[in-house]
Amino acid sequence: MRAAVWYGREDIRIMDLPELVVGKDQVKIKVRWCGICGSDVHEYREGPMIISKKPHPLTGKSSPIILGHEFSGDVVEVGEDVKRIAVGNRVTINCLIYCGECLYCRLGEYNMCLKLATVGLAWDGAFAEFAVVPEYTVLKIPDAVTYEMASFAEPLAVAVRAVRRSRLKVGDTAVVIGAGPIGLLVLQAAKAAGASRVFAIEPVPHRRELARRLGANEVFDPVQGDMGKEIAERTEGFRANIAFECVGNQSAFDTAVRVTGRRAMIVMVGMALKSIEVPFFRLWGHEKEITTCTGYVDEYPAALAFLADRRVQVEPMITEKIGLEDFIEKGLKEMIRNPERHIKILVTPGREK
Ligand SMILES: [Zn+2]
Ligand SMILES: [Zn+2]
Repeated sequence: MRAAVWYGREDIRIMDLPELVVGKDQVKIKVRWCGICGSDVHEYREGPMIISKKPHPLTGKSSPIILGHEFSGDVVEVGEDVKRIAVGNRVTINCLIYCGECLYCRLGEYNMCLKLATVGLAWDGAFAEFAVVPEYTVLKIPDAVTYEMASFAEPLAVAVRAVRRSRLKVGDTAVVIGAGPIGLLVLQAAKAAGASRVFAIEPVPHRRELARRLGANEVFDPVQGDMGKEIAERTEGFRANIAFECVGNQSAFDTAVRVTGRRAMIVMVGMALKSIEVPFFRLWGHEKEITTCTGYVDEYPAALAFLADRRVQVEPMITEKIGLEDFIEKGLKEMIRNPERHIKILVTPGREK
């Protein structure tokens, strides 16, 4: 089969691999669409970041490895012990592979598994014609959800978890900082959860426009004025109950502190690789909370339901659809060259475009 295989930094090879063998508790999926995630770009440009050079303790996998974790497809083969999933099912997957034995797994907190592995990083992923994964990762997709839409189930599960971690209540006011792929999904998930108003802060004009189109009550360019004052003016001085920091850097965090009011919650959704300084006295005096979120546990059914009834719209976020042979030039390199032009590029190993 054809596959895009990560060998090293700036060394991904589109090549032929032997057909995959399906283990008895595994499912083989013919890939329809796989979205390029920011983490794929990081692995290409700066990796290995999560990809490990030594065999992963749970999966035994190391590089070379097939990237790709945001995907959908059709089941074409199942192992002899597979019961819940059948050939012909339209599916996506929960990308987490966990040990099932550690304390966190026994508590059902799979994203905290001590041996956690992710498909597309420590298990061969879906920038390929086929993917083989354990049955427990596989989810059927509703008829109303297209393959393109289902390839957003993974980032949307992240967004749903971010909203859950925020403990958002019906009527709360929220601010989303950063209207990239995750920010745009968090914005819609917060609305679906009952936020009365969601404001978006984003420097790129076309992303602001998209945020508005996808339900933001108002959008702001962070370089145009004091964001704290802007939000205060619109909330009778109280500012927001919740800020979702979907960028992962100091200035976005500082904005989150300024736009939120007393006893507010700040959710760090973006993955900051550098340390972030915290204005402790202000947080302390205002009893603000900061929380983080990573991956997902059981957020996929909600994500698929939101896609099925269109409460979350993802089609406007697709900025390009390409074939697997173009994955590097028109996918990864294009996202590096023109980051402002793209939200999500979908890749298909099939001929359809
Ligand atoms: Zn992703
Ligand atoms: Zn575990």
